[in-house]
Amino acid sequence: MQAPPSEPVLRVALPVPLRQCFDYLPLEGAAAPAAGTRVVVTFGHRSLAGVVVEVAAGSDLPREKLARVTSYPDGELPALTSELLDLLGWCWRYYKHAPGEVFFNALPPLLRKPGGLIPPLPVQYRITAAGQERLAQPVGRVHAQMRLLKHINRGPATGPQLRAVSTSWKKLLDKLLEQQWVCTEPPAPAALCPAAGPELLAEQQHAVDEIAASLGDFRCHLLDGITGSGKTEVYLKVLEQVLARGGQALLLVPEIGLTPQLVSRFTRRLGFEPVVTHSGLSEGQRLQAWAMARNGLARLVIGTRSALFLPLSELRLIILDEEHDASFKQQDGFRYSSRDVAVKRAANLGIPVVLGTATPSLETFNNAHAGRYAWHRLRKRATGAAEPRWRVLDLIQQTMHGGISTTAMDAIGKTLAAGEQALVFLNRRGYAPVILCHECGWHAACPHCDANMTWHRVSRRLLCHHCDCTAPVPIMCPACDADALQGAGEGTEQLEKTLAERFPGVPLLRFDRDTVRKKGEFHRLSEQVKEGEPCLLVGTQMLAKGHHFPKVTLVVIVNLDQAIFSADFRALERMGQLMLQVAGRAGRDQLPGEVILQTHYPRHESITTLLESGYEAFAAAIRKERQTTALPPFAYQALLRCDALDKDDVRGFLHQAKRCFPAGGAALYGPFPAMMERRGGRTRWYLLVQSSERSDLHRQLDEWVPRVQGLPLARKVRWVVDVDPQDY
Ligand code: ADP
Ligand code: ZN
Ligand code: ZN
Repeated sequence: MQAPPSEPVLRVALPVPLRQCFDYLPLEGAAAPAAGTRVVVTFGHRSLAGVVVEVAAGSDLPREKLARVTSYPDGELPALTSELLDLLGWCWRYYKHAPGEVFFNALPPLLRKPGGLIPPLPVQYRITAAGQERLAQPVGRVHAQMRLLKHINRGPATGPQLRAVSTSWKKLLDKLLEQQWVCTEPPAPAALCPAAGPELLAEQQHAVDEIAASLGDFRCHLLDGITGSGKTEVYLKVLEQVLARGGQALLLVPEIGLTPQLVSRFTRRLGFEPVVTHSGLSEGQRLQAWAMARNGLARLVIGTRSALFLPLSELRLIILDEEHDASFKQQDGFRYSSRDVAVKRAANLGIPVVLGTATPSLETFNNAHAGRYAWHRLRKRATGAAEPRWRVLDLIQQTMHGGISTTAMDAIGKTLAAGEQALVFLNRRGYAPVILCHECGWHAACPHCDANMTWHRVSRRLLCHHCDCTAPVPIMCPACDADALQGAGEGTEQLEKTLAERFPGVPLLRFDRDTVRKKGEFHRLSEQVKEGEPCLLVGTQMLAKGHHFPKVTLVVIVNLDQAIFSADFRALERMGQLMLQVAGRAGRDQLPGEVILQTHYPRHESITTLLESGYEAFAAAIRKERQTTALPPFAYQALLRCDALDKDDVRGFLHQAKRCFPAGGAALYGPFPAMMERRGGRTRWYLLVQSSERSDLHRQLDEWVPRVQGLPLARKVRWVVDVDPQDY
């Protein structure tokens, strides 16, 4: 006898850090929803939102053990499209991370909760023929209604637009709808109405043509253009073509690259406002942005890392600006590279992806070098401005004032006297990175991290920049009671003080996380810079990205020497990228720019190659070295990271994990302490898996991770797999 056809089983991803999905039965009497649909389930004693990852025929568990889902909050509308389910399924397999966190990462925060709902499609109101007839007649006693109707007669309007006409718009509108003078319709997506841009230079035009020619096919393009070479103009021209054909496009930018300046430039040039999304928005705003992507109203989305996972059914082009930027890699939880996943998404969709930068990451550089990516070089500044001139100062030969050499001081003075602006860069905030006793050598260390506390003079606090713990600044040495505490080294706060004393009366604007806390503060400061009066800018990395300050003609790089001796093999690459990004702020407009680099190693090979032969030669040299030493991109790596309060647990777990590592082409190294072994009170170590073949690495990881999960200590420590790690 044949068994009766049984009910399908829903395989559900839940936002829990377990490396598995959970099986549930559909709602009693209801059909199974499509994969991608959200469900609400009871998990333990909690009510959780989940996502159906798969509708399966059966389960490993007996049917009577399976619970039913509690509801389908969005009805039959899947929150994740099948395209995203495929992509996220790939991410899950590739990054070996807990599926719940992978799938939930793609949802806006409100939809991760059982109470959240996909918002209904917005509507707009349009006048009917009957409404127009009514308007032709005398107004009568319904003044307010007619005023609203007149407004709608000018063109379809949305609720928020009508609210501006009258506070009682809702009541009035109901009347108009009742009389059938007005009807509802879905709003039209924003219309493209491009404004003319500058005429493209030959190399820009060539890049546009090649990218446009690949629309409709998967192709990776490296747009390798120096700062100010007109990469953004290239994006705009290609976007115009994509949008004109009814496609959607996605522009990903680094966390601190998403400025109002950038958004208004796109709005001005394309004639409509792009949808913007990033983690600084409210949950409601993020849901709105997501919904606009889902329902097709968003034509262009500009966003940070996680915007990559927006549901865009007509997606035709992905652009990553500043592709080398570290913020494209998520550094906690689900550790994915949005650059690599963007390439995968483009491949799945058969669309081009553009990686733009002045300083390609070595991974991208190598792909272009090997001919896997189309390589477009823009080597001139588009405005015709000259590239800044470099001056390298040997610190051995300089007299210093609070971190700034006499030569640099003089250059700053000349710049200000000429009515121009100077930028002083140091990637370290606070007053001094260490406070120490000159009697006994005591220094203020963070009690929870392997790091010194930074002295913040104005706020009179010691602050750990790694775990944010703070303490008052001691007056006497806590170890020997001597009155001999002094700061060592400089931070931006000290530079500000030194410069203010040296250049009294000159406006001084400091840009770092301490001064730019409030929303809009950065914008306010940068508007002041753009007014063009002589002033001094002091700041960290925050100043390095994409800003266009026409009057800045001098950049002083106070110190980047730490990179030269760093144990991190990527430190030099990052140093070169940062140097050129910062230098790119100088002389962007009509006035020629100069960059002063203060260093103890003026003849270091990397520095001379970078400054004399340019980034391409610099990257090529690093590439050679990585090839010789068999490091990424010539090897594939993954880490098993572990941290816990107890060091013995960490080491015990990693030793157990090491013992169950399967044999194969990939080798296992370690355990090693993390570069910062203790952070926030937790001890951090890792195992390194490395192979010259990606397939070996993944095969062994797939075998290994379930074994690791079953280890006795696996529940006592925090652990995570980090595929293609960027830090150690
Ligand atoms: P990037 O994105 O490479 O830093 P942008 O696209 O922002 O460069 O261009 C830098 C400046 O040059 C901008 O002010 C831009 O308007 C201008 N620009 C870009 N392309 C051209 C061009 N073909 N002719 C004249 N000016 C241009
Ligand atoms: Zn002391
Ligand atoms: Zn700390």
